[in-house]
Amino acid sequence: MDIHTNKHKRILLKLSGEILIGPTKFGIDYAACQSVAHSLKKIHDNQHELGIVIGGGNIFRGINLKELGMPRTPSDHVGMLATLMNGIVLQQALESIGCQSKVMSAIECPQIASSYRWSDATNLLKEGKILIFVGGTGNPYFTTDTAAALRASEIQADVLLKATKVDGIYNKDPIKHPDAVKYGKMSYSQFLAEKLEVMDATSVALCRNNHIPILVFNMQLLECGQINIASLIEKGTYVEEH
Ligand code: UDP
Repeated sequence: MDIHTNKHKRILLKLSGEILIGPTKFGIDYAACQSVAHSLKKIHDNQHELGIVIGGGNIFRGINLKELGMPRTPSDHVGMLATLMNGIVLQQALESIGCQSKVMSAIECPQIASSYRWSDATNLLKEGKILIFVGGTGNPYFTTDTAAALRASEIQADVLLKATKVDGIYNKDPIKHPDAVKYGKMSYSQFLAEKLEVMDATSVALCRNNHIPILVFNMQLLECGQINIASLIEKGTYVEEH
């Protein structure tokens, strides 16, 4: 049993689109989706209420299209639509293993997904549905990290879990710098003062203002089915106000 079940009952999990890539270099690998879905089911089975914000970086990042010469706003529209595609596939993977879930979109597309509404979201979470929030914040110039902080604030999540490619938060990029040092715990203010890049400052500031702790951990732990919050805290980095 997870000793943090009560302290961290309601979770907002931010998944980068990359978690759906699997062994390929681009797009969606259905086996990877199934594996993520099984991990999500375990979190849910462990008595957590679960909202997920999925990114779209495995398909499109607005910044890339901008580099091709398009203005930022329509580029970001494409990026937000990429999160919608990921959300639909993830929802299908969850349904295929008997897990009830719903895609809620910040961008209106009623034929495909429910429109995000705070009251619907909170009711569905209480009913035990897994919610997949797509379309980011619905606005260009933001990231899905900020969407995660926003949804976490709205649904009054007890913690924002951010799955990344590294083990937690380091003082510099551990992929480029082998001497990088990992933090076990840190404050929002320290994170912002050190201009760390694992999450954007807007998302961290939003969590700070709304007193939502952030737990950054390696996405491989999810892939291996390690979903106990207490052990994720031990292995990752926990950000809160000291
Ligand atoms: N995006 C946006 N507004 C938002 C969230 C996302 O415009 O509120 C766009 C942006 O272009 C971004 C893309 O959607 O690059 C995909 O999101 P992100 O890069 O955060 O995905 P991740 O890296 O988490 O897979």
